[in-house]
Amino acid sequence: MRAQLRHLYTKLFEPRAAVLMYHRIAAPSSDIWEIAVSPANFEQQLAFLKKKYQVISLQEMADSVANKKIRRNSVALTFDDGYVDNYLQAKPLLEKYELPATFFISSGNIGQETPFWWDELEQLILFTQQLPATFRLGQFQSQADLKDENYLTEDLRLKHTSWRACDEAPPTSRAQLYYSLWQELKPLSHAVQQEKMQLIREWANPSGETLPELKSMSLAQLQELGRNHLFEIGAHTVSHPALAFHEAPYQKRELAENREFLRQATGQGVDLVAYPYGNYNTDTLATVASLQFKAAFTTEERTINTQAHPHRLGRFQVKNLPAQEFSQALSRW
Ligand SMILES: [Zn+2]
Repeated sequence: MRAQLRHLYTKLFEPRAAVLMYHRIAAPSSDIWEIAVSPANFEQQLAFLKKKYQVISLQEMADSVANKKIRRNSVALTFDDGYVDNYLQAKPLLEKYELPATFFISSGNIGQETPFWWDELEQLILFTQQLPATFRLGQFQSQADLKDENYLTEDLRLKHTSWRACDEAPPTSRAQLYYSLWQELKPLSHAVQQEKMQLIREWANPSGETLPELKSMSLAQLQELGRNHLFEIGAHTVSHPALAFHEAPYQKRELAENREFLRQATGQGVDLVAYPYGNYNTDTLATVASLQFKAAFTTEERTINTQAHPHRLGRFQVKNLPAQEFSQALSRW
């Protein structure tokens, strides 16, 4: 009862503060996880935030939790993963509006040609023009009979580009296969994921190359980002594992090696971290505490308040909305 009352008091009387989560600033033809905000909408969102909110750095937000002094109407901006569009599109707009932001970087893909496995999987399964009629490989639990969907018709393509995987059931057999493989691959280690991706590549045998905009930043781009006083680089593991599915030493290695890479790349301390997929367990909490991360961020949608656990801080995923709808979403949070 006391906890409930305290929660109610917090909700009614404490200043509101929130951390916003972006991934990509781009307008891709397909965005099934709703992680892309178009540059035009992003600019509208920044202009709105600049006018109506106090946009503070994530460090200040973390300090405000530690000191139990939350600033009224404060908002901090974060970007996960390290997509190249963060450098090409987000950086110039953040500079134009002079707004601080933190970039959580998964370092394994920095300077590499390879996209993240989930982006490549989406391209392979949903958008390869011609696939084999069945997916049955000994190394996989997922199976599919693609029936009349092995050829990508315009109708099929449309169903895939309009699919919202967070809220909607898969609309086609291909989408079902994608989702099943996504679930199967997500808990695995990077090495096993890559073995399985190679088998899927050979099976799909796509004629085109994967899209260049799915790449991560180059090392030089990351370094330039790190040099700008507006920006901070945060940890997001080396290979983006779902941490809770792995033993504590694996978790520790992923976090420590990522931090070391980012420290060397930017010459800055790295004491903020975001959990890949927002996924963590008690081992993760113990690990980030032992590595002395000052604050850690989930994808659990809740505001920042003085009761918040410093290693389980909430964030809100920003969708591709123009200013007015964005403002409505913010007022609901
Ligand atoms: Zn991520």
